[in-house]
Amino acid sequence: MSRTYCCSCQLPQAACLCAYVRPQPCPMPVIIYQHPLEAKHAKSTVPLLRLSVPDIRVEVAETLTPPPTLADGDWWLLYPDAAALDIDTQQHSLLAVKRSASELAADKLSAAKLSTGMQTETMPLTAMQTNNRQIGGLIVLDGTWRKTRLLLHLNPWLKALPTLSFSQAPASAYAIRKGPGGQALSTLESVCHVLHKLHPEFSPAPLLALLQVRVGQFQAHKGSAPQTGAK
Ligand SMILES: [Zn+2]
Repeated sequence: MSRTYCCSCQLPQAACLCAYVRPQPCPMPVIIYQHPLEAKHAKSTVPLLRLSVPDIRVEVAETLTPPPTLADGDWWLLYPDAAALDIDTQQHSLLAVKRSASELAADKLSAAKLSTGMQTETMPLTAMQTNNRQIGGLIVLDGTWRKTRLLLHLNPWLKALPTLSFSQAPASAYAIRKGPGGQALSTLESVCHVLHKLHPEFSPAPLLALLQVRVGQFQAHKGSAPQTGAK
């Protein structure tokens, strides 16, 4: 007996999630570059993300085409490197220095003058502007840790992008896989957290509810749902 698949969510008819999808607009340009191996992974959360936020662009390839320049702000890469801006603490990961309010005010005035090299001090993130580089669009690499590093290696233009990460996302409901934010979060959860942080009107709730349904399907598929309070 051959399986039939839903033409909308691409899942087997018996597992169709379309009834649970509540689409919403994406508040900023988002591109997910997905490694080809990840695209075949049954537990990828990107299909759910696409159903819920249809504006998100997904490209599957190893050699990636840089996106067009944004009219408003720069493309930022979600990647937890040493220079990444932590959007939760609004500090740069390894270089954070506590500043007084007056120093922060002085920074605002001098921010325009700082334009070279690595960040050497914490900058205020007023209106999500950092070192005069506004977060205009988000690029996310999707794949295992090894595959995302490969994408970086094969596409050096990615390394020229300013990077952002997060440190205080809610605990994952999908802890079976690791995500791109440096934490054990799925890509869907990572993108939700960043979008909500940058644009509070974006609601993660419908996406997290959809993810819960998917997790329930996996658990049911395994025969009996594991009763694990703590994993
Ligand atoms: Zn469906």
